[in-house]
Amino acid sequence: MIADALDFEGKLAPFIYSEEDNGDPDVLQEKINPVTMEELRELLADYPLCAYMEKYGYANSERINLDEPKWLEALNALYTEENLEKIRACVLMKFMDNIITCSDEEAFRKYQEIERVRDDLEESKSDEQLAYEECRGDFPNQFGRLYTQKYFTAEDRERIASFCREVIDTYREMLRQTEWLSDATKEKAIEKLDKMDIRVIYPDKWEDDSMVRITPKKEGGSYAKAQEEFVRTLRDYEQELYAKPADPELWITDILQSNAAYVFGENAFYIYAGYLGEEIYRSDMTIEELYGGLGHTIAHEISHAFDPKGALYDADGNMADWWTPEDKDAFRERTKKLIAWYDSVTAFDDGTACSGTLWQAEAVADMAGLKCLLKMAGKTEGFDYDRFFRADAAFWRRLDTLPKAQMITLRDSHPLHYLRGNATMQQFDEFLETYDIQPGDGMYLAPEDRITVW
Ligand SMILES: [Zn+2]
Repeated sequence: MIADALDFEGKLAPFIYSEEDNGDPDVLQEKINPVTMEELRELLADYPLCAYMEKYGYANSERINLDEPKWLEALNALYTEENLEKIRACVLMKFMDNIITCSDEEAFRKYQEIERVRDDLEESKSDEQLAYEECRGDFPNQFGRLYTQKYFTAEDRERIASFCREVIDTYREMLRQTEWLSDATKEKAIEKLDKMDIRVIYPDKWEDDSMVRITPKKEGGSYAKAQEEFVRTLRDYEQELYAKPADPELWITDILQSNAAYVFGENAFYIYAGYLGEEIYRSDMTIEELYGGLGHTIAHEISHAFDPKGALYDADGNMADWWTPEDKDAFRERTKKLIAWYDSVTAFDDGTACSGTLWQAEAVADMAGLKCLLKMAGKTEGFDYDRFFRADAAFWRRLDTLPKAQMITLRDSHPLHYLRGNATMQQFDEFLETYDIQPGDGMYLAPEDRITVW
């Protein structure tokens, strides 16, 4: 059955966008295909997607976006009597994959072992850790609320937000001084920057998850049953949301993730509570340490508004073209040079090539972010550049296993960490001057070979 399932998936695979495709801004535009239920019905003569949507309550949607239209078309074409056994195998395999960790203990242990081998780890996570991760994943608001009550105050939130505003002020100057951009496009870019929403640490309003009811063990509950109850409640809740306008005050995310993000459709960036650990933020940090870590992150997230994908969205978060044709061409030319450079890098002895297409948005944001920070540094008397670059390098250091690093190379939209540090820093005179890097040195990059887009 697994062979049958893989065979069927193999037939669909050519019609699915790859990770590399997803890095391409043109593909982002191809993914906007809103249709009505009627149009969807016409499109899918055989595959019963519409019946499924009706059964599970999704058919009331006014518009449905098809972000993988070629896949859906192929699925419709492959939905034949002849493929029936293979489809059955595929459905069963996916179902098993969904329930394997809660079907019985033997399957659960086997699954942990497979994950351990896949991730090249010495031992599996403890049951306690797995239980914690599971609960946090299902109830992020409860955990987020407890954590932020214990570790953050309103003053912390204001302090970080005010630092974000400082970075935005310098970013505005940086955009204004961009030589290859016309005044008309600059004005639009600055409008987008000024409208950007800063969201730090925790939301003003928490999402309500009190409707979830889990049957306790003594009343006949089990792990599998809890999963089912949770999924069912969540589905009902989501359907309620579809019928209402989006509430901009809710953060639909887990604020304990150790991350930051820019969201195109909201023109907002988030610095989550889970990100602000000791390494990233302490009140006794020097300005250089603050700029090298958190500062770089904030400027990086702002830069996503102007990376090759973010550039497709306007100040209100709508996909719209706010560029003059000449400026757009210039932007694309600069991006092309960056892509070509990353394409030329081989990271491993086996010659695995890196992909500039996959990494372009993140690489653009890393470099624009550092440029902004160096501009802030330039305004600070007695700024210690050595300390700053060391803090920035420490911020990028990672210990990865080889399979993990290879996986990043093929599938992650972020460049390998050593490149996020080295390739970004070597673009700037301040770095070359601080360490007296000369032509012929490994880290030297001639001005004409530099690839910063901004
Ligand atoms: Zn990013």
